[in-house]
Amino acid sequence: MFDNLSEKLDKALHVLKGHGQITEINVAETLKEVRRALLDADVNFKTAKEFTNNVKEKALGQNVLTTLQPGQLMVKLVKDELVELMGGDAEGIDLSGDPSVILMSGLQGSGKTTFSGKLANYLKTKKDKKPLLVACDVYRPAAIDQLHIVGDKIGVEVYSDRENNDPVAISKAGVAHAKSQGLNVVIIDTAGRLAVDKQMMDEIANIHRAIQPQETLFVVDAMTGQDAVNTAKTFNETLDFDGVILTKLDGDTRGGAAISIKSVVNKPIKFIGTGEKMDAIDVFHPDRMADRILG
Ligand code: GDP
Repeated sequence: MFDNLSEKLDKALHVLKGHGQITEINVAETLKEVRRALLDADVNFKTAKEFTNNVKEKALGQNVLTTLQPGQLMVKLVKDELVELMGGDAEGIDLSGDPSVILMSGLQGSGKTTFSGKLANYLKTKKDKKPLLVACDVYRPAAIDQLHIVGDKIGVEVYSDRENNDPVAISKAGVAHAKSQGLNVVIIDTAGRLAVDKQMMDEIANIHRAIQPQETLFVVDAMTGQDAVNTAKTFNETLDFDGVILTKLDGDTRGGAAISIKSVVNKPIKFIGTGEKMDAIDVFHPDRMADRILG
């Protein structure tokens, strides 16, 4: 994960590590390289600039040049800033409803259906919940089949209605079904498109209005870098979602989406997907991610 970025940051910070004394020039050069590494990792330009400015300000504020181990302090400042940028503390999801309704949104191929299954499995096995998956993609019969396959894999019921082409009605019926069966979490998998379009956005906004979910999650493929951030922005303008799910972090991603998304849409990343299997899900911890990035 983020191998290239880790390597470049390590190289940038290496100059300072172990140095007894460092100069203002060392700091400036290092920050320039840090910024370059972030940009190479597809971090949003504004975010990268703010990042290095913040680190510089803190370094000056703490009189980094006069401290005993200035290099170590700089490394710490960079790490703290990374943590801050990615969201500070880890966030949970709201499971207070009865049932709690979780609405999944995102483009086609982002990993929504897979993640719906992973989340259901996580809640069932780790949080002792009784989830129901609801198939609301009325355009692609294969999407309904896929959710049933996922549900079978993890032993979680899937609610679908192939005769109905109204996703709002299906989602409401799904919630009613969960209530009648004593199931306490409803995960609604919705239709995505290859790109943002008005019909898709209207549809998901209608579902959102009708069922008032406790959590609206936006799923995005981390491999898409800056596009991931732009799509998040568009979805957030319509949906005002609660959190981001970053999938495919097991692939050869450069890290830009993970680092920029929080600062651009001001919504936390809540979970990450790290593979195709049902247990390839992790709660997103900004500090652990920063550790991984810095190696
Ligand atoms: P949807 O169209 O948004 O519902 O996306 P899918 O759930 O069908 O996922 C699209 C493809 O991405 C599938 O081939 C999944 O197996 C794959 N996928 C989903 N999440 C992950 C992940 O975290 N890592 C990897 N490597 N593949 C994933």
